[in-house]
Amino acid sequence: MSYDDTNIFAKILRGEIPSQRVYEDDDVIAFMDVMPQAEGHVLVVPRTPSRNILDASPAVLAKTIAVVQKLAVATKKAFAADGVTIMQFNEAPAGQSVFHLHFHVIPRRAGVLLKP
Ligand code: ADP
Repeated sequence: MSYDDTNIFAKILRGEIPSQRVYEDDDVIAFMDVMPQAEGHVLVVPRTPSRNILDASPAVLAKTIAVVQKLAVATKKAFAADGVTIMQFNEAPAGQSVFHLHFHVIPRRAGVLLKP
C-alpha cells in the first residue's frame, strides 16, 4: 500500500483544513481528535509522510514516540487523568481510517470506558 497525500491529516499538515493544535515542532504535530473517545483525546502525527507503522522509518518513529510520551504526560496532568491509553492502527482491517501514521493519546479516568 502506498501513501496518498489527499488524506485528512496531510490536509491538516498543509494547513488546508483547521485543527486544534496542541503541540508542534520541526518533525511532529499534535492536535485534538474531532471525535474524542474520552476527554483530552489527542492525535500525534509526524510531518514526514508514512501510511502507517509498516512503512515508517525508525527515525520518524523515534521522533514521534518521543512526542507521544510528552503528550501522555501533559494530557494526564491537564485532564487530571488516572492513566493514559496509547493506540495505533495499521490498515483498515486493523481499525485504521486515516492513512497517515498517527498515534492516539487518550487520558483515562478510573471507571470511565472509552466511547466507541
Ligand atoms: P479510527 O477512525 O478507527 O480511530 P484511525 O486510527 O485511523 O482509526 O483514527 C483516525 C482518527 O482521526 C479518529 O479518531 C477520528 O476521530 C480522527 N479524525 C478524523 N478527522 C479528523 C479531523 N479533521 N481532525 C481531528 N481528528 C480527526
